[in-house]
Amino acid sequence: MPISLNPTMMRQIIMDHYENPQNKKEPSGPGYISMHMNSLNCIDDIDVFLKVEKDIVVDCCFTGVACTISTASTDIMCNLIKGKTKNDALYIIEQYMNMISEKEFDEKVLDEAIVFINTSKQAARIKCATIGWTAADAILKDKK
Ligand code: ZN
Repeated sequence: MPISLNPTMMRQIIMDHYENPQNKKEPSGPGYISMHMNSLNCIDDIDVFLKVEKDIVVDCCFTGVACTISTASTDIMCNLIKGKTKNDALYIIEQYMNMISEKEFDEKVLDEAIVFINTSKQAARIKCATIGWTAADAILKDKK
């Protein structure tokens, strides 16, 4: 699905994921690994939960208090890495981090996450846009 970089559409995607985050919920059973993250500069205070079975990320969710950017970016991340192998999930996270830090990145694996492309221009928002991704990255690397 190609994502338009039209700013109105980008804002709409962020607001949709903020107002109705599908993955902001308690884990549905045992077997999850969690990581707590918070931010000194924002209200963000979240737990990210990943369930990995036989090398596949079978579920990803998060709970806690989070601003618009962190809620939407973490929600989109969960959608992107669910069903992927650990290595594919790590690759997607790496590409996203590259985008946020204005390096070259593989656009086709980021899908809706591309809406955060301008976050690199707002230093105060970078932590918000990466907080959930950083947690998932740490969990997956620990599990490798
Ligand atoms: Zn935030």
